[in-house]
Amino acid sequence: MNEIRQDYPIPEPNKVEKTSRKKRSWTWEYFENVDIEEHKSDNGEPLKRCKVLDANGKKCGTLYVNDGSTGNAIIHLLNDHEITKEGKMNKNQPTLSAIIRAQKHSENRQKELRQFLTDWIIEDFQPLYVVQSPSFRKLICELDPSFIIPDEKGVKKIIYNAYNSMLPTLIEKINVEAKNVSLTTDM
Ligand SMILES: [Zn+2]
Repeated sequence: MNEIRQDYPIPEPNKVEKTSRKKRSWTWEYFENVDIEEHKSDNGEPLKRCKVLDANGKKCGTLYVNDGSTGNAIIHLLNDHEITKEGKMNKNQPTLSAIIRAQKHSENRQKELRQFLTDWIIEDFQPLYVVQSPSFRKLICELDPSFIIPDEKGVKKIIYNAYNSMLPTLIEKINVEAKNVSLTTDM
């Protein structure tokens, strides 16, 4: 055992400040120190190496001077590996900018999709506020980021419009065919 042990801690009056200054950059998750015997910069400074693996499992290996600055490493991770402080950008998970960039559907298609949504709400007796549910909106957005999900007011409007256009047909149908009528409402 070559472990070096310390009997009592050395007093550190500025401990808090020191700890925060020493905080390791998140970029170290993707970099490793290069053995100074193995490789060093022209000025003899220590180096760090990018250890991000590509699709074939090959290490990137890009070298940077390990002088405590992280700007170049951050730019490298972003440009070459699409990695940010929040982690790897997942191509299957649209980022906010991707959603903004995504082309919205034509008004006809939006209308059609809004109708499908409204039909589902009506036929499955969903409460109108379901369209405000963050997890529901997330699901729809993941399935189709080009669809502008209507809010509760929007859905109500669709139902009212449907009611107005359906009413004459419905009255006629009831007049002609109905013996018993059962009505349900949730507005
Ligand atoms: Zn790299």
